[in-house]
Amino acid sequence: MARPRSLRVPVLAAVAAATLPLGLLVPGAADAADRGWTGRPTALPKAPVVVGFGGAVSSVDRDASQVGIDVLRRGGNAADAAVATAAALGVTEPYSAGIGGGGFLVYYDARTRRVTAIDGRETAPASFTPETFRNPDGSAMSFPTVVSSGLSVGVPGTPALWDRALRRFGTWSLSAALKPAENLARRGFVVDQTFHDQTAENAERFAMFPETARVFLPGGVAPAVGSKFVNRDLAGAYRLLRTQGVGVLYRGSLGKALVEEARDPHTVPGVSVPHGQITAADLRSYEALVKAPIHSQYKGLDVYGMPVPSSGGIAVAQILNLMSAYEKRTGVATSQLDEVGYLHRFSEASATAFADRNRWVGDVPGVPVQQLVSPDFAKERACLFDPSRAQPRPIPFGEPDGDYAPCGQQGLAQAGSHEGLSTTHLTVMDRRGNVAAYTLTIEQTGGSGITVPGYGFLLNNELTDFNFVPLTPGVPDPNLPDAGKRPRSSMSPTILLRNGRPYLAAGSPGGATIITTVSQTLLGYLDRGLSLKDAIAAPRLSSRNGGSEGAEPVIFDGPVGAGLTALGHNLSESSEIGAATAIRSLRFGLFEAAAETSRRGGGSAMVVWPVR
Ligand code: GLU
Repeated sequence: MARPRSLRVPVLAAVAAATLPLGLLVPGAADAADRGWTGRPTALPKAPVVVGFGGAVSSVDRDASQVGIDVLRRGGNAADAAVATAAALGVTEPYSAGIGGGGFLVYYDARTRRVTAIDGRETAPASFTPETFRNPDGSAMSFPTVVSSGLSVGVPGTPALWDRALRRFGTWSLSAALKPAENLARRGFVVDQTFHDQTAENAERFAMFPETARVFLPGGVAPAVGSKFVNRDLAGAYRLLRTQGVGVLYRGSLGKALVEEARDPHTVPGVSVPHGQITAADLRSYEALVKAPIHSQYKGLDVYGMPVPSSGGIAVAQILNLMSAYEKRTGVATSQLDEVGYLHRFSEASATAFADRNRWVGDVPGVPVQQLVSPDFAKERACLFDPSRAQPRPIPFGEPDGDYAPCGQQGLAQAGSHEGLSTTHLTVMDRRGNVAAYTLTIEQTGGSGITVPGYGFLLNNELTDFNFVPLTPGVPDPNLPDAGKRPRSSMSPTILLRNGRPYLAAGSPGGATIITTVSQTLLGYLDRGLSLKDAIAAPRLSSRNGGSEGAEPVIFDGPVGAGLTALGHNLSESSEIGAATAIRSLRFGLFEAAAETSRRGGGSAMVVWPVR
């Protein structure tokens, strides 16, 4: 293993020498550590921010970040660490992510200096039609009924994404990358408040499904904080994937069990739920897709995000473009505004982007992607902005047709659609300069509530991300269900490059609030003079073109909220929005990893060799 670039810099080496365990400064020490690897990590503390060498991992969970750091320490790259961390999150955050769900990876490959996206989104069964979620009278089926049912279960994409990411970018086998997570599931982890609360909030739903109750409600209740939670069934599922490959899910015994359970879920006596439509053929035809990322520019940086079927990359790009356009129109930089003025602009930009994504973005041909992310379209859309007044909601959608006037044509004002608040995000940078921004989910916290018998993981309810009926009668809706289609997402794993080199990577969970959380974090860091940790910790506002916009208590209860209300914003209190993680690549091989200070119990930022 080559010595890290940074240790050749005398001043930094001195800093490092003062703070690092001595062995780590000895050339070849890491190799020796590799050879002596026992599978037991050297525990790093849980912290929201850390600076150091050798690569960085940030996730919501200490055990998962530690798994990623151990992979980097053992010579794995960002792809290896991302998969291993994600698999660990499947153990410790089983209600947010796992092999029963899907996700999106944006990856910077240092060798080719290119950013690539991998789409591991769930697909609808081949039997689906735009009417699948309608009652016989044409009305939308009850949302909660569909959530906790087999009908919401899409073909999982996560195992296929892991396989694809490792084959394309990784240096480790799937077997090696999943081993730490298998160990974690078998040895168990200590239940924290978040895990306890998420279990308790789902207890009634989980109790409908005997297998879910058996695995996640041992003794009939949510596991106590501080107790150890072991999931041997999940360890077995990981072992199967490790030893037989992902084909065991897409073509083998694990897939057979999954299909049987989704099509006819086991329920307790007296409870019945809609049956799923997934078939073995749906699983066989699944593919994680390699795609070109969304690319835009902001303040001289190249911004890369997730393409369709996520709306995340497009919407984040549009929000940033609109913030630039407002600066130009008003002659006042975002950095010069007071908090009310800044959040007013941010809210207007967010609501505008949501109006456009609701009309134009979905897993359909012909999404006008280049127009939606073009500065010219943003300029046209910015004409609606009034520094002294919020635009009435819902803001009408625009016409991204390439023909832009100072104040162009507008479409109808449409209400938004439902999305959950679950999911998890991880960010990795390695010492070679590779970067992974990876968001994964099973949709709602606890997904469909259905556990595949004997395998210890929950099935997603991702198909509820489709609109059950068109948002507006007579207006084309790109997000209706259909055969083999992927539901529209808001997931926004994002990588920023400066002069072609990694600069910053970020992402967050939180359903549709993912888009606003990621944008607000980037703006906080790039324009508002906040450190990365403070940009993540800053009180959040999430305007998604609905009747009201979510505001965290510090905003809602304080003078900023009053100022926004005076401008015409209709705020509603949200206790917590998002749970972001981010990493910055600094000079001389240093990294700064950052996570939440308090949301979801605080996140876990780690570097291989911390210096402070
Ligand atoms: N299903 C949502 C999406 O793809 C994410 C779920 C959530 O964060 O609650 O955007």
